[in-house]
Parts: sequence; structure tokens; C-alpha cells
Amino acid sequence: MKDLFMCLPRFFIDTHVHGRDMLEDYKTTIYQTMKEALLAGIRVLAYMPNTKPAMVTINVLDRVLDIINDAREMLKISEMQYVYFGVTDNNLDQCEFALQREEVIGLKIYPQRENGGGVTTGSIGVVSMRTVLAAMKLARKYDKVVSVHCSCPDMFFREKKDTIGGELSYLIRIVMVAKKVPGVKILICHVSNTLSAKYIIRAHEKFGINIAMELMPHYLWFDSEGTNWNPCVGREFYHCFNSLRNSLNREFLVSLLKTDYSFIFCASDTAVHIEEEKMAGFGGIPSNQELPAVVVTLAQMHGISDERVADLLAFNQADFLGIPMDRGLVKYRLIEKADDCHYNVGKIINPWNGTRLYFPVRVN
Ligand SMILES: [Zn+2]
Repeated sequence: MKDLFMCLPRFFIDTHVHGRDMLEDYKTTIYQTMKEALLAGIRVLAYMPNTKPAMVTINVLDRVLDIINDAREMLKISEMQYVYFGVTDNNLDQCEFALQREEVIGLKIYPQRENGGGVTTGSIGVVSMRTVLAAMKLARKYDKVVSVHCSCPDMFFREKKDTIGGELSYLIRIVMVAKKVPGVKILICHVSNTLSAKYIIRAHEKFGINIAMELMPHYLWFDSEGTNWNPCVGREFYHCFNSLRNSLNREFLVSLLKTDYSFIFCASDTAVHIEEEKMAGFGGIPSNQELPAVVVTLAQMHGISDERVADLLAFNQADFLGIPMDRGLVKYRLIEKADDCHYNVGKIINPWNGTRLYFPVRVN
């Protein structure tokens, strides 16, 4: 069989990582997620604030940044690492302090119901759209991004799950608020379906909003119909927020990889939970070691250029988020194999195991 090669950036960027640590170090740690990312050629990571305790105070921010710096030192990573600071309805003063830190790449909005019910694992979140508006104004002041988990909390609780309608309705509310803050940068996390993706393109083209979308490997490879699932792994292990949608939605997201929109990029949303938690309904899929492999494999299947893959895995996110990045490309050999990646030294069930993918490995 002929060897396959691609020319790609010196390293990849993952803008959506759940590092845990602190009270959840039994799931994984920042050190562990960085170590796993390095195996996949990812050298710059941005961590999410729904930690325990949540990263919504400067105290916790400092604690997390210390943990990140220790991990960088141990793994000899010279590149800067980033975090999103979590917004609540009463921490805007802390948000302003946080935004002045170089490592804080932006703010993160998780929707929440008035009684405190959130739409993802953990209790962090924002109820009032007035808070969302104030957060956007703050982020714009410091030229940073507002990253949003789109899911309508009321619909989420009524139907006991997140639906496409709930995802789209929160996205529409976010765009309405963003219209009042011209120039603000909005990043819509883990876009799972055609309607949301088309609405983001429309918001960009029709309303001139500086809005980007993250496409995650699991929505590009798996769907709610069980496509590409490992038959030996229970369906609970494919449960994530937002939920996997059907194959038509998955195929539409894959078709976006082939466009030349610079506001689209890929990130992992790697989120590990132990087996007992997954069986109890926790949402999240370990994905950072598969992130480059899935995009590269889809590029091989659909004839997507090396330049576009470079944009999707590094350059588009670097440009949008202001991450310094050398634009040179280097040669990678594509190793085709059944996925055998471990998470947290094998303590986590990895639903990707067994999937045949091309893993890009740097030639020199
Ligand atoms: Zn996430």
C-alpha cells in the first residue's frame, strides 16, 4: 500500500477542552489532557470553566492557571495555554479582572434556568440575557471572545434532553443580543445540526456578526442512528451535550469542512467521565486524541485540501482568537490503524476504540 502524506501546521490547536482537576481529578487532570493532546500533535489548548469548583472567581482562575503552568513545565510545552472564564449573573466584576489576563481567551456562557438548573454537567450558568449583553460588551472592550453553549434551558428541562429546537432557539437569542454589540466576537460551541450551522452562516453574511462555529469530531463521525459506533460499547458512552443528531445533520456538518468559510474550525470538546457517571447519564465524549485523525480521515474521504485541513485544525482558530501561530507547513505521514487511544491511563471507556482512522504523525 502506498504511503500517504499531508502538509499541515507544526502543531494543532484545540479550543475546547475539559481539564477537570481539583475536586474532579478522579476523571482526569489538566496534566493528563495535555499529555494526551501532545500524542495527537495538539500543543495549544483552551480549557473550559465548568470545573469543580467552577472557574467563575479570580481565586479559582489563579488556581487553574497554576495547575496549567505546572503541567506545561512537566511536559516541556513552551506554547501558551488558555482558559475561558465562566460568566454568572453576579460575577461581571470578576469577568472584567479575568479578561485582563493574557491566558484568558474569552468568556463562556452556559444557559441556566431561574431555579438554577443547567444544560450540561455542573451547575455553572447564566439566567438573564442582560448578563449576556453585559458579558459581550466586556469581551469586546478587551477584544476577546464570548463562547456559548447553545441550548434552551426551559426546553431542556421540559423534554429532559437537549433538542435541535432548543439549540437553535438559544442561538437565535444570542445573535439578537450580539446585534446590539457591533464588533463583538462570538464563538458557538459544538454545533450539532444543519439549522444551527445555516443560521450562523446567515448571521455572518446577512447581519455582519463576527460569529464562528466549532465542529467537533464526534458530530462529524457518529450520529444518533449509531453510524460508526463500536458495537461492544454501550450507547451511554455516545451521550454528549449537545446530543448526537441524525445522519442528515452529520452529513451537512461534514459538507462544511469542504467550504472555505474562515469562521469554521474544529475542536474536540474532550470531556471524560468514569464508567459509573456515564451509566448515570453524564454527557461528554473523550475526543482530543481523535480530533486531528477524524478531520484528516474525512479529508482523505472527501478530497479536502491540505490547506483547508490546516485552517480547520489551527489557522482559523488562531486568527479568530488571536493565538500566535507560525504559518509554515510540515510533512506528516498518515498512519491508518484501528483507534487504540487511552484516556486517563486507560481508566476511561473510549467509544472511539476500534474506529479505523488515519492518524497524522510528523515526519520530522
Ligand atoms: Zn464542552
